[in-house]
Amino acid sequence: MEKINKILVANRGEIALRIMKTCKKLGISTVAIYSEADKSAPFVKFADQSVLIGPPPSSESYLKQDEIIEVAKNLNVDGIHPGYGFLSENSSFAQKVIDAGIKFIGPSGKSIEIMGDKLSAKKAVLAYDIPMVPGLNEEVTDINKAKKVANQIGYPILIKAAAGGGGKGMRIVENDSEFENQMKRAVSEAKNAFGNGAVFIEKYITEPRHIEIQILADQHGNVVHLFERDCSIQRRHQKVIEEAPSSVLSEKLRAEMGKAACDVARSCDYYGAGTVEFIYENDSFYFLEMNTRLQVEHPVTELITGLDLVEQQIKIAEGEKLSFAQEDLKINGHAIEIRVYAEDPTNDFLPDIGTVDVYSIPTGDHVRVDDALEQHMEIPIFYDPMIAKLIVHDSTREKAIQRMIEAIEDYEIVGVKTTLPFCDFALKHESFRSGKYDTRFVKLYFSDPKVLDPSLEMLDAALATVALLEKKDKINDYYLPSAPTNWVSNR
Ligand code: ADP
Repeated sequence: MEKINKILVANRGEIALRIMKTCKKLGISTVAIYSEADKSAPFVKFADQSVLIGPPPSSESYLKQDEIIEVAKNLNVDGIHPGYGFLSENSSFAQKVIDAGIKFIGPSGKSIEIMGDKLSAKKAVLAYDIPMVPGLNEEVTDINKAKKVANQIGYPILIKAAAGGGGKGMRIVENDSEFENQMKRAVSEAKNAFGNGAVFIEKYITEPRHIEIQILADQHGNVVHLFERDCSIQRRHQKVIEEAPSSVLSEKLRAEMGKAACDVARSCDYYGAGTVEFIYENDSFYFLEMNTRLQVEHPVTELITGLDLVEQQIKIAEGEKLSFAQEDLKINGHAIEIRVYAEDPTNDFLPDIGTVDVYSIPTGDHVRVDDALEQHMEIPIFYDPMIAKLIVHDSTREKAIQRMIEAIEDYEIVGVKTTLPFCDFALKHESFRSGKYDTRFVKLYFSDPKVLDPSLEMLDAALATVALLEKKDKINDYYLPSAPTNWVSNR
């Protein structure tokens, strides 16, 4: 076993800060790399050493593999943590780090490669009898064959990009006549966004819940699961609210999904922390994909298990054995996380930019804020618009919901629009409170954002002002028609 003494965090924002806090707790020194847009960001100030790596666009900074490894070598770094997004699921980066004699705090390049492609992932797990969504688990090359399968499994069906991520590259097909046209569009979208036009088809589950299982595996063949997270409140197929445990799983199903997740990890000789995502409907679950990194919503699992997942990742990378077995793990209470995106929920969740004029966070024993913000800080337009996560924990789901409503009330962010009002709406909604909700929540209950506040009737008029239109134009130029492909997949 080789102890890691100095970690470079190849990331930015809240996750860079969160990783460094665990390093500090463990007595490990930290190195931040940063772009010009982040020069005064909290994670840069927090690190023991920080190095400017390049201009704001991530292709010229946070994605510069060789430069990052060079910095690590020069500063005698012995571990690189990739966080989520950016290079975290780049198998060649993982391998380059290892080749440079530095520990990659994540799985092997081989595991990343297998699970990085949804089709090769499905192939890998075949030997383990993992339930899968009905479909054609191979690249569609013959439209007629695919149409035949679509008719057998029944419409609606979903066309998905094998290399897809971030909820992008998915198209729903309602009937046979749309099939060919949608297929052509999906292939060209996949080519543009991921440089790989391979697509496949799955049955579109109409009342789906997104339930995922956190796993931990060491380098000695031990695999455990840390129960589930329910991430069914989504917009654009991307998560906004997550909770653990799920309100729909029986003990029996929890154990079955946990076992399936551990088997998925075994199928690619996985080590490290990972997440196996399933789609759930009516007591059935189907394997979607595995994310081979720390997940945005990992704090809810930390709060119900009492484990620090970053600490576990570091220990595993050092070659330690897991210090607990499956039967030692128990669910303690209930945790909820909301993602604070700099987005306007009243305008189709379009990203917002600007300066945070006022910033004040909720505090208390039951509340955790993982953020990357300070008062008067400017939100850079170059990166993912998630600026903070608010997490609460209490003994029951009802109490946790109440804690969250109070914490949202105490959270003050002035200067940019955020998803806080949407989350407040969702937490108070009967469908969420009863636990009987699915990924259609936004579509079913939030199609008219005026439900947030009657005064929003004024919004259309306000949007007509020149200043706002200019801001919108700036955002549109950057985010549309093709959002940056380095945005994080459905973390
Ligand atoms: P990505 O890698 O782009 O995040 P995923 O396969 O993880 O794609 O799916 C993202 C989300 O899309 C899921 O959480 C779910 O809401 C929806 N989704 C994916 N597959 C299906 C399906 N077969 N039926 C219904 N919804 C689906």
